[in-house]
Amino acid sequence: MLVDSHAHLAHEGYLESLDVLLARAQTAGVSRIINISTSLEELEQALSKFKACSWIDHACAITPQDVAQLGELQFEAIAAYARKGALIAIGETGLDYYYTQETKFLQKDFLKRYLALARQCHLPVIIHCRDAFKDFFSVLDEVEPVRGVLHCFTGTLEDAQELINRDWMLSVSGIVTFKKSEVLQQVAKWVPLDHLLIETDAPYLAPQPFRGKPNEPSYLVHTAKFIAQLRGITFEELAASTTANATKLFGPSKAC
Ligand SMILES: [Zn+2]
Repeated sequence: MLVDSHAHLAHEGYLESLDVLLARAQTAGVSRIINISTSLEELEQALSKFKACSWIDHACAITPQDVAQLGELQFEAIAAYARKGALIAIGETGLDYYYTQETKFLQKDFLKRYLALARQCHLPVIIHCRDAFKDFFSVLDEVEPVRGVLHCFTGTLEDAQELINRDWMLSVSGIVTFKKSEVLQQVAKWVPLDHLLIETDAPYLAPQPFRGKPNEPSYLVHTAKFIAQLRGITFEELAASTTANATKLFGPSKAC
């Protein structure tokens, strides 16, 4: 049993093939998916589409790349869903200085607002952080403690150590299977097993041997096998630990 801690199922590329894709995920042993919506429209679509799917849970926030456009416009409506218990986590929120340097201030502002919302609602946060770890940690130092996961981790070993010191979870995506991902492989080997989550970030970042194709939750198996081998443990051991970690962070499914 595996938990895909981060997938975008409401992505437009999936509209036609969603049922087939979810069946494939279940056959592959994916027992739970945390579905990430990055706008109010996506969230509402996902909530109605997956109403009957007790193994799909929901998280939502406006991504750092989109806060300038949608942040203010949709914050209150997303917060309302969180307050009425429709979400299992707040995210993905965070900082992305790789794509959008010019909105640094705004990104930090919304990150703080989402962190406060998560605390209010007793929910964990799902963080996207790219080329911005220094600022991310200084934001964490400014706010009341929150629980969370750094999704699709691509930082340094030092960033990973800092996260673990703060008792955060670290989630590894299919990027780890790419040949040039030596640093991430080092991190995936090092991170304490009780702080590791795995994810597809589907439809992006398909692991080997599917690199370059649209990703989907069933491919999580390949990432899990790769990390198990890296660490010298069995696939079953890795699956059991990462599933237990997901339950610890997100709690049991809200959908059932
Ligand atoms: Zn994502």
